[in-house]
Amino acid sequence: MDADLIIIGAGPGGLTAAQYGARSNLSVLVLEQLAHGGQALLIDALENYPGIAPGKTGFQFADDLHRQAVDFGARFLSEAALGLSKEGDAFTVTLGNGETRQAPAIIMATGAKHRKLGIPGEEEFYGRGVSYCATCDGPFFKNKKIFVVGGGDSACVEALFLSRLSDKIVHIHRRDRFRAQKSLADQVLKNPHIQVRFNLTMKEILGQGGKLQSVILRATNNKGEEEGPPLDAEDADGVFIFTGTIPQSSLVNGEGPLKAELDEGGYIITDEKMASSIPGLYAVGDVRTTPFRQVVTAAADGAVAAHWAAAYIDELRGEAY
Ligand code: NAP
Repeated sequence: MDADLIIIGAGPGGLTAAQYGARSNLSVLVLEQLAHGGQALLIDALENYPGIAPGKTGFQFADDLHRQAVDFGARFLSEAALGLSKEGDAFTVTLGNGETRQAPAIIMATGAKHRKLGIPGEEEFYGRGVSYCATCDGPFFKNKKIFVVGGGDSACVEALFLSRLSDKIVHIHRRDRFRAQKSLADQVLKNPHIQVRFNLTMKEILGQGGKLQSVILRATNNKGEEEGPPLDAEDADGVFIFTGTIPQSSLVNGEGPLKAELDEGGYIITDEKMASSIPGLYAVGDVRTTPFRQVVTAAADGAVAAHWAAAYIDELRGEAY
């Protein structure tokens, strides 16, 4: 075996698991596709992580987590995990470079990616007016008219961020109320720079010469279903889309040799030990079924998963735990 524990993904969940695994004296290998930190890297100021006040940037936080994991002995490899299989008690991970790595336990910390609207103009104007990250692209839209789409925590957090850059934010949501936490929703509703318009969805993004110029909206009923004809085009300089995430669970969704139990959204179902339905395979953070996705909950998942992965490995080795 190449390690006791292979962790796929280096967001807050994966990095915390790496630290806890290494502290439990496991040989830990973390596979990271791009930079460590995952979506936390995009956080402007991590204000709600207990004990860290004032909040660090997501980058600084991820860097500190990474350093802690390395200091405790975790190894890191910059490679994508393209395949995962299991024979007997050994998992085999196939890497982007064609090599393989084996371990008796795996922690999936692969996170989730942005869900797109799938409307005309979304692809065409991506990076030229359409964005999925306010922290990254907001500063390009100072004092511009920006549409924000979505009714969850992300949409509200990002609308509030954008409201510091422009007083012309139009926040649309397809229902008659936000699904975001009340405190966030209230901040958006009270913000004088944000015009909230419920019961609307975006149908098309238009522009000319590679420049986004307008959007077409359509009314919806309270269930979010579209009703009536598309409305007249409205001027817009930017469209920020926060319509949720898609879990990165393809390594265990049955397309390959492994099929873990997933929920209807494709998230990996775990028990309180973060164990999936496949013995030895754990899942943490945004890729698993959980009612609340936060940096702090992902980190807690990572600690729990590493603890029980260590116990599982001990059991395999016939040691009493
Ligand atoms: P989310 O909670 O799944 O919300 C997605 C929103 O997009 C929903 O309001 C949904 O509408 C809407 N939507 C989905 N598809 C759409 C479409 N095709 N057209 C129009 N609207 C569409 O996703 P999220 O806001 O990204 O949050 C993900 C997780 O991260 C949550 O667990 C959240 O708590 C957590 N989070 C927490 C914070 C924080 O600071 N506390 C910040 C960001 C994220 P419906 O309401 O109609 O379904």
